[in-house]
Amino acid sequence: IPASRDRLRIAIQKNGRLAEPARALLASCGMGWRESRDRLFCYGESLPVDLLLVRDDDIPGLIADGVCDLGIVGRNVLAEQDGARIGAGRASAFREWRALGFGACRLALAVPEGWEWKSPAQLSGKRIATSYPALLGRWLTREGVDAQVALLSGSVEIAPRLGQADAICDLVSSGATLAANQLKPVVTLFESEAVLAGPIHALDAARGELVELLLRRLDGALRIRHSKLLLFQTSRELLPGLLPLLPDAESPTVMQVDGADHLALQALCHGALTWQRLEELKRAGACGLMVLPVEGMLA
Ligand code: ATP
Ligand code: MG
Repeated sequence: IPASRDRLRIAIQKNGRLAEPARALLASCGMGWRESRDRLFCYGESLPVDLLLVRDDDIPGLIADGVCDLGIVGRNVLAEQDGARIGAGRASAFREWRALGFGACRLALAVPEGWEWKSPAQLSGKRIATSYPALLGRWLTREGVDAQVALLSGSVEIAPRLGQADAICDLVSSGATLAANQLKPVVTLFESEAVLAGPIHALDAARGELVELLLRRLDGALRIRHSKLLLFQTSRELLPGLLPLLPDAESPTVMQVDGADHLALQALCHGALTWQRLEELKRAGACGLMVLPVEGMLA
């Protein structure tokens, strides 16, 4: 690992759910890398930005210690470790800088399918297995429930079957894992997705400028992720009927073509432009509809 710290260092997950999407997102910001043979480090070739490939649990600590400047990690991991720091009487050292729109999941309380769920009070005196003791503890305190927390680092969902716990508090996306273990989610404690994490305080000047550049590109990449450029033509009298069909269009550009009545429109749409929507626009008087991908955007 190069010692020079005028380069920016970003920690991302080495393997696992966030590894590929994190790299793809950074690549879409114009970054390219040469990977070290031990696959721990990616040396940035197009920008002075390097990647450190680590376990996701290590990312907040690497930021807190200043070993890395930024990281891509689940909001759940960030909030749990921040909660643990605060619980231990330490100050916050990292925070969410941007939500990244992938890796969506929720931290949920799940109970055996046979339970009739009425209220959190049912958990009093019960054992709850989790890898998120700080987030679960905060919720239990808020609900005024006195339950026992059993800390497990993995395979939390099998704890009830093994008789280790009565209920669990774990990450859920589809719910298939819970169902396979005869559990059902009853309360959502926390909504999560992948985030760009950084220190609480701004970075020093040299790296700060690099971060600004990165954030500008990142914001552009996030904005165009689901955006398409829509082009079509119509007549002036039909325009008022068409605009309500484009609630997700960013200030459409209207141009006049041969004669006052004939218009050409160009709009950046942030929602999905399905066949159904195009057909609706056509019925309302749009013609020559064209949907173009957006390659880049800089506000
Ligand atoms: P590591 O080896 O890096 O410690 P891990 O096993 O702790 O990996 P993953 O299972 O790869 O982590 O999950 C990484 C992140 O993906 C989670 O912290 C969470 O933010 C997100 N995620 C999205 N959906 C799910 C899900 N169904 N289960 C678990 N995590 C999910
Ligand atoms: Mg982990």
